[in-house]
Amino acid sequence: MVRKLAAEFVGTAALVVCGPGTAAATGVIARSTGVPFSMAQLGVIALAFMMVIVAMIYTIGHISGCHINPAVTVALAASKKMAWAEVPRYLGAQFAGGIMGAFAIWSILERPGLDAGLGVLSYAPGHTRAAFCAELIGTFLLVLVVFGTTTDGRATPGWYGLAIPAIVFAVITVVGPVTGAALNPARYIGPMIARAALGGGKGLLWNQVPVYFIATFAAGLIAAATYAFLGSVGPAPAGSGSGSGSGSGSGSGSGSAAHRPKPARRPDPRAATGRPGKHDITTVDATTVRAWVEEAAQLVDDNAQYLTHLDAVIGDADHGTNMRRGFRAAVHTLDEISATTPGAVLDAVGQAFLANLGGAAGPLYAAGFRRAAAALGAADAVSAVQFGVALQAALTGIQELGAAVVGDKTMVDAWYPAVTAYQAVINTGGDLREATGAAAEAAARGLRATATMQARKGRASYIGARTVGHEDPGAASTVLVVRALATTIAGTAGLTPAGAVPWPSRRLGS
Ligand code: ADP
Ligand code: MG
Repeated sequence: MVRKLAAEFVGTAALVVCGPGTAAATGVIARSTGVPFSMAQLGVIALAFMMVIVAMIYTIGHISGCHINPAVTVALAASKKMAWAEVPRYLGAQFAGGIMGAFAIWSILERPGLDAGLGVLSYAPGHTRAAFCAELIGTFLLVLVVFGTTTDGRATPGWYGLAIPAIVFAVITVVGPVTGAALNPARYIGPMIARAALGGGKGLLWNQVPVYFIATFAAGLIAAATYAFLGSVGPAPAGSGSGSGSGSGSGSGSGSAAHRPKPARRPDPRAATGRPGKHDITTVDATTVRAWVEEAAQLVDDNAQYLTHLDAVIGDADHGTNMRRGFRAAVHTLDEISATTPGAVLDAVGQAFLANLGGAAGPLYAAGFRRAAAALGAADAVSAVQFGVALQAALTGIQELGAAVVGDKTMVDAWYPAVTAYQAVINTGGDLREATGAAAEAAARGLRATATMQARKGRASYIGARTVGHEDPGAASTVLVVRALATTIAGTAGLTPAGAVPWPSRRLGS
């Protein structure tokens, strides 16, 4: 928490140094050159705001969320995306940062900066309604973009760092001439307080404070409520796309989703596409397991950004990087050694994960792979039943190390249904391809179910209820690993996997 608050303090101070600081610098230049204020100057000020926000989002976003704006923090708390208990401390850090940033402007521009206003904002007296609308609408748009791009797992990963600053730029050029475009109570009040403290208090319009404060805080709440409606997911999650931009979940049945063919629940394996004449494989050997690991590495590579995006929402934004590092190391290790049994291959993968990954997921996956390896023993090739025993052993290893049970919102919520589905198919006479296909489908369903759960294990549990509504990154990587298994087994048989889980997809498995 101390680091988060320090990050918010630094971020807000940076915002004020660069944004209002550029405004003050513009004033300094205007005074010495007589250049009249025009859209050219306003555009540069807006650009400075935009750029410092881009920079701060990628500097402290992974530490504190980079709110750097009390209106954003309150809106997030109001929509249960952060704990109210943290709000006073966040606001304290932001307001303190705003004041410190304004002092920093003075430290740079000195007396001329103070005379040029130190970035203090005001509106023309008598135009209170216009000023209120300017701050209300401007801040509404800003917070709406914050919600749409950062709080929704369906958003394009990573692009909030451009979208949020972009709306700030666009808003400033409209409302700047009216109120100066505070859009942020900390940015607004910081320069006022610093200027008063530095002896430039004459002419400060303290009576305008309520207008700026009420408009910006209210706008944040309205934006939160608006996105709660716009972004809500309807009762029937059948249609997976929202590409038309008409919004998903309105329940009014958008045509595009209805036209999409639905995959059959449990297709007849004999009717699966593929080269006829080839037989499904009945045993798993070292070559197959190597191919599985390579396929998993590829899938993780392709989807690393998505995994990190999921982890950014409820964790610390490193799961994609972690998993990519682990699988790359595993593939590299397998290239170096001559592991000739399935057990030896999986043991090497486990060692690679252990040696190359920190965090929670590394040791957990390592435990899974190594337990599976132990269960496979020294056999050259194992049957579907034996392979099922190994999968079960992997799950047991993960649970023994992490102490997570189904419902805790972890990778166990994908592993458990996958292993169960695999065994159910084998026990009813199904083959490897059907069993791994069913496992992949079950893992994807398990992943979807994690969205409704509250995290009780690992880093995500620290933010408690805020995790509800978001899928678990570890469960998502498990889907990739199991999916890779199904693809590999089917590919070895010259067929496509049993079942159909479209991939890659933003909403995994839907
Ligand atoms: P970290 O949480 O250390 O940043 P990662 O981001 O790589 O590590 O992995 C996070 C994932 O690890 C979570 O999404 C969750 O699925 C999984 N995880 C965390 N703790 C546990 C646990 N105790 N048992 C099982 N899985 C866990
Ligand atoms: Mg993480």
